[in-house]
Amino acid sequence: MPIRTTAAIAFEPGKPMVVEEVDLDPPGEGEVLVQTGAAGLCHTDLDVLDGSSPIPITFPVVLGHEGAGVVLEVGAGVRNLKPGDHVIAFGPECGLCGSCRHPTGNFCDSTFSGVVVDPTMTSGGRAIRAGYAIGTFAKHFVTDQIRLVGVRKDAPFDEISYLSCGATTGIGAAVVSANVHSGASVIIFGLGGIGLNIIQGARMAGATTIIGVDINPAKAAIARRLGATAFVNPLVAGDGLVGLLNEMTHGGADFTFEAAGRISTMQQALAAARIGWGVCTIVGVAPAGETIDVLPFDLIMGRKLQGTTLGGFRGSQLPELVDWLMEGRFDLKSLITDHLPLEKINEGYDKMRRGEGLRSVLTF
Ligand code: NAD
Ligand code: ZN
Repeated sequence: MPIRTTAAIAFEPGKPMVVEEVDLDPPGEGEVLVQTGAAGLCHTDLDVLDGSSPIPITFPVVLGHEGAGVVLEVGAGVRNLKPGDHVIAFGPECGLCGSCRHPTGNFCDSTFSGVVVDPTMTSGGRAIRAGYAIGTFAKHFVTDQIRLVGVRKDAPFDEISYLSCGATTGIGAAVVSANVHSGASVIIFGLGGIGLNIIQGARMAGATTIIGVDINPAKAAIARRLGATAFVNPLVAGDGLVGLLNEMTHGGADFTFEAAGRISTMQQALAAARIGWGVCTIVGVAPAGETIDVLPFDLIMGRKLQGTTLGGFRGSQLPELVDWLMEGRFDLKSLITDHLPLEKINEGYDKMRRGEGLRSVLTF
């Protein structure tokens, strides 16, 4: 029997989502039905909605890849989860493929397999897909067990839903993918839901110079509160931005991060990394088809350019991250500036477009 629930459906790119009732297919083999407790609004979904994302997603679709909730029902063959468990949706970890067996791989071979799978919902006779094979912008979602991680039950859903992507990506970019070391200098371009967590990760790793860069001056105060030692506004610095950052870091930073999702800031982040050993990590997703210009000599001079998905973390590491959260090692509470009902999801994304607030979370 299909499960009657309510979902925010994106019918076509560039149009607001429509919140309406849908019939969700019950969990099949290896699948799990989750009652959504909270779902975070990540910029990645905004780019998909606006039609500019390189991620291959077919409309109509229920978006949302950040989410946490309670397991209601499990399909045949589900090994590690049972009704009542609290779960976080995350990038898949099948445990068997080349990436899962690699010591540092976190890009499971099944990552994109769900994006084009058969529709899993219907509404008014129309077939609807679950974005990223998850689709958390709904009161219930069904997904594969390899995209869910069971976690302790005392952790609040709004904060752990942010660990589905944004917070984990930011913290992991610093502590896992770039492996920032104590005493390091770090520059972060773009202080949104991701970039602010890169600041927290850099602080936890013991970096002593942490420079936040954002065109929105409202980000300065929170950046400093989370551990930034300086804030630079590119609109004030103008063409001298990279020169100023080089001066502030005595010739370039040990680690730079791009979390604004723009080619221009990617170029700046590479140029702001120290010649000899600076590592530039691309976290932001640039519009489909756009490319970065890299002078081979920049790399020959010892700069390194790399990218990261989900900060290099695997799902199986999330329970430890939840422990860190509950121990107060990093702060997500003050980053969640809006709690919205599903019906107001478009307002949440309008706020993100206007650069207002930090992170919005849907609560159910
Ligand atoms: P966000 O909208 O909350 O934040 C983006 C920030 O960049 C804003 O504060 C904005 O003011 C700032 N910005 C814009 N132009 C700038 C410029 N020229 N210079 C400096 N700052 C500028 O977005 P978010 O949710 O933090 O996501 C950031 C990026 O990370 C997006 O591109 C998103 O798609 C991507 N992302 C990547 C991963 C991954 O696994 N690699 C995961 C999630 C999100
Ligand atoms: Zn995301």
